Amino acid sequence: MSTVVSIDGRLFPPGQPQISVFDRGFLYGDSIYEVLRTYRGHLFEVEAHLARLRGSAQLIGLTLPLPAELLRTRMDDAVRASRTSESYVRLIVTRGEGEIGLDPALAVDPHVIVIVRALQPPPPEVYRDGVEVTVVDVRRNLRQAIDPAAKTGNYLNSVLALREARARGGYEALMLDSLGRVTEGSSSNVFAVTGGKVVTPPLDGILEGVTRRVVLDLARDLGLTATEAELFPEELFRADELFLTSTIRELVPVVRVDGQAIAKGKPGPVTRRLLEAFRKRAEPD
Ligand code: PMP
Repeated sequence: MSTVVSIDGRLFPPGQPQISVFDRGFLYGDSIYEVLRTYRGHLFEVEAHLARLRGSAQLIGLTLPLPAELLRTRMDDAVRASRTSESYVRLIVTRGEGEIGLDPALAVDPHVIVIVRALQPPPPEVYRDGVEVTVVDVRRNLRQAIDPAAKTGNYLNSVLALREARARGGYEALMLDSLGRVTEGSSSNVFAVTGGKVVTPPLDGILEGVTRRVVLDLARDLGLTATEAELFPEELFRADELFLTSTIRELVPVVRVDGQAIAKGKPGPVTRRLLEAFRKRAEPD
């Protein structure tokens, strides 16, 4: 077996599991989720992911149906059943199903779903050569609309941003907020390295990436100055290095923005050092 789905604690092979079409996750994106991965079979930063899930639940007024330990058990059980060497793990909590209607009070019983698949990390050339990103026209949701700090099943903002980036030749989209500040990628956080200083946008209208947090800590451990500060698109072009972070992709060097090379157009030394340190940190003892 490799892909396994757990619905409310029952394990299914792919193709078999069923979630109602009346589920609000399906109808409205009224759900929250996390994506984790394993290193040598162990879930990485599981507490941080569960804490973020709790935060997302609070932001959308959803009561988690299980305590954190049981959510973890559900993931561990599915990982074990999948027998993959390294796993991609998606934990979803939907508000559940009920009469069709927007009112969340119509929902009964949230569902807890875990999808485990064999991990498919980016190919080696992504790390060797770096990627191009596109500053897209699609703007990041306002905090007052759907707060990007909540990882909800409503990802259309990111889907449309990535669609635009791909159409323009980008590997990832960089999204600006309504004031023109760089926020994050469609499913990644962004860092710039300028004059040896590592900078990433503050937690104001972005998702707090688990990888982002680890990278900020590692940068400081390595003696680098690492700060959270506003970042404007012009600064991207002046940076010595840029990179993206996410659970599945770790740190990905960015060598071009909208077709324009960043510095020499090659992955930089700080990115390499941080990626190395990250992988060391991620491997269980
Ligand atoms: N921002 C967004 C919008 C994302 O979807 C993701 C992926 N979860 C990230 C940032 C990176 O977060 P993490 O490092 O926790 O995977």
